[in-house]
Amino acid sequence: MPRYCASCSRSESDAKFYGDFCENCAKLRLLKKSPDLVKVKVCRKCGRVYTGSRYENESGSSMNSAIAFGLKGHSTNLLAYEGQKALVEFNEDTKDGVLAAEKEITIRYDKAFCDRCGMIAREYYEALIQLRGNPERVERTRARIERYISKSGAIITKEKENESGMDIYVSSKSVVNSMILRMRLQVVQSYTLYGLKRGKRVYRNTYAIHL
Ligand SMILES: [Zn+2]
Ligand SMILES: [Zn+2]
Repeated sequence: MPRYCASCSRSESDAKFYGDFCENCAKLRLLKKSPDLVKVKVCRKCGRVYTGSRYENESGSSMNSAIAFGLKGHSTNLLAYEGQKALVEFNEDTKDGVLAAEKEITIRYDKAFCDRCGMIAREYYEALIQLRGNPERVERTRARIERYISKSGAIITKEKENESGMDIYVSSKSVVNSMILRMRLQVVQSYTLYGLKRGKRVYRNTYAIHL
């Protein structure tokens, strides 16, 4: 017995069917229940977009992830986007295969701070490196430290020059500890208690380096 579309009564002999509906009606129904708007979090400082687990540079693939995350519960594929407009393919599993329909939707960019820019804004640090002594050596060591930190995944959240040298604030103690060993720097280390984290004392490390 042929199927008849539950919406327009067209016969299965005239059209492809997806479940109880002809292709046309099935697409219209899918588009009707698909959202018209997606929110994407974007860092107000560096412009990276939130893909659901981390912030990434804007690209076709990161926007695809960001939009899929913003449209959780729907199966989507980003076909194109420009400014506030995105052309999205919505998919639905039916007993007759996967139905796909395209829709232009609006992207709303919500301004946020990414993990990195948030730390910089708060001037967060676990390690303070104090470079002291000969200005040229201070400058050379600073450049080496910057190179090391930029490759490490940690970040420098603040740098402050003063008459006796340079203070460098770094987001991660463990990265600085490895750096000290790797660069064979002579340090005088001290600790400052700066708070409690789940009942444990948390310390900031200060590394004084005389050059
Ligand atoms: Zn129909
Ligand atoms: Zn950022």
